[in-house]
Amino acid sequence: VVEDAGSGRRSSADHDGGASADRVILHVDMDAFFASVEVLDDPALLGLPVIVGGAGARGVVAACTYEARMFGIHSAMPSGVARRLCPSAVFVHGRFERYSEESKRLHAILDSISPLVEGISLDEAFVDVTGVRHLLGDGATIAERIRFRVASEMRLSCSVGVGRSKLVAKLASKAAKPVADRNGVRPGRGVVVVPESEELEFLHALPVQALWGVGRATGRRLEGLGVTTVGDMAALPLGTLERAVGAAVGGHLARLSRGDDPRPVVPERAAKSIGHEETFARDIWDRTELHRRLAPMVEASANALRRSDLAARTVSIKVRYADFTTITRSHSLKVPIDAGPAVAAVAGALLDSVDLSLGIRLLGVSLSGFGQRDRGVQLTFDLDPERAGLGKGDSVGREGGAPEQGRDPIETVQRSWESVSDALDAIRARYGDSSVGPASLVGAEGLRIRRRGDAQWGPRALPGRSEGDDRRTTE
Ligand SMILES: [Mg+2]
Repeated sequence: VVEDAGSGRRSSADHDGGASADRVILHVDMDAFFASVEVLDDPALLGLPVIVGGAGARGVVAACTYEARMFGIHSAMPSGVARRLCPSAVFVHGRFERYSEESKRLHAILDSISPLVEGISLDEAFVDVTGVRHLLGDGATIAERIRFRVASEMRLSCSVGVGRSKLVAKLASKAAKPVADRNGVRPGRGVVVVPESEELEFLHALPVQALWGVGRATGRRLEGLGVTTVGDMAALPLGTLERAVGAAVGGHLARLSRGDDPRPVVPERAAKSIGHEETFARDIWDRTELHRRLAPMVEASANALRRSDLAARTVSIKVRYADFTTITRSHSLKVPIDAGPAVAAVAGALLDSVDLSLGIRLLGVSLSGFGQRDRGVQLTFDLDPERAGLGKGDSVGREGGAPEQGRDPIETVQRSWESVSDALDAIRARYGDSSVGPASLVGAEGLRIRRRGDAQWGPRALPGRSEGDDRRTTE
C-alpha cells in the first residue's frame, strides 16, 4: 500500500532518534530548472531571457532563466505581464517528460549519496546525510560533491543549503542561489552552510514571509505589530503572537523562529495525487461544455492511476473562477476505484455541485487516497439487474451481510468496468493511448487523450497550430 508516505518507511527520525542537534540536512534545488533544460537542449538560447510557460493570453510562467529574471519576471507570473516586462523574451512550451528525465538523473545522483532522499518536486529534494559523513565528509563537502556531479554529469547547476533542519536547509539553498536584478546576473554562492552556532543569526535576519505558514494575511497582521523580520517575531511574547495570528499558527511560527523544526527527511515519498488541470483560453459558464472538458482529464487520470497499479479513494475537482478564487470539492469512497466511468461519475457529480455564475477559468481533477484495487472479489451480483443499475444496489444490501451487497452505486460502476478497463489497458499497451477510449472523447482529430504534463503550461499561443509545430514563439 502506497497510501501513507509516513507509515512503515525509513526516515531520518528512525535513523538518528529524531530531531537531534547533530542532524545534517541538505536541500538541493536546481537553478531555473525547466528553463535550464531548454537552454541545454538548444544552445542558441544561451544568455537569452527564456520563459517556459503558456505563451497565450491566459498562460503562466512556469520557469524562466536568470536573464529573464533581470526584467523582474518570476514563476507563476501571468505570461502577458512577463511579455510586457520583456518583449524580447523567448517563450518555450514546457516538456514535462524531458524535465522528468533530468529529474531522474538528479535523483540517481542523490540516491548514490544517501538512502535518505525526499523528493519535493522535480527539481528539489532534501537529503539527510547525518549517517554518511564518516564516508563522505561533512555537510559542506557532500554539498560541493553534489554540485560537482550535477554540473559534470547533467551539465546543469544546482544550489545546496546545509543545516540542522529542513527549514534552515531550505532557506540556506535559497541564499545560495544566483541573483538577477536590473544590474545583471551574479553567480550565487552555490553552497550555503548554516552551522548551529549561526542558525539564529541567519534566521532572524530574514523577512517573516520566508517562514512556512506566513501568507499575505498573516504577514499583514504581523506588520501591524511592527514585526517584519523573523528576529522581530522571535522577540515577541508568545501570547501577543498567538493573539495576532491564532494559537496554532502562533505556536508554529514561534517554534520556527527559534529554528525548531523536527520534521524528518522521509525517503521515497510516493505521489500523493494523480490528476490533470486545464486553464481555458476563455472563461466558461456552460455546464455541458465543462463536462466535455472534464471527460478527457478524468480518462487520462484514471489511465495513469491504473498504469501505476493504484486505485483512489478520493476524487477531487478544482475550479478557479474568473476572479482567481479557487475552490475544491472532494468525495471519498469506501472502496478505492480506478475505472474511468466510476471516476467520471464522481467527478461529474462534484462539478454539478459547483456554482458557475462567476465563469470558470481553470478546471482540474485529482485522485488521491491511494490503495490497491482488490482484484480478487468475484462479481456474481453484478449480473443481477436489480443491483447492477446505478442507484439501485444501495437499498438491497442493508439487511444482507455479503460485502458485494449494499454497495455504493459508484462501486457498482467500478465493479462492472473492472474487466473492461483491464481489456482497454491491454489494447492501449499494445497499440498506444489513442487506440481506444470512450466515445465521448472522440473528436475530429480522433481521441483526445491527455498525456501527463500536457496542460501544465496553460493554453498555447496559437491554438490552431498542430502538435508538430515549433514550440517556440516570440510574439
Ligand atoms: Mg529550483
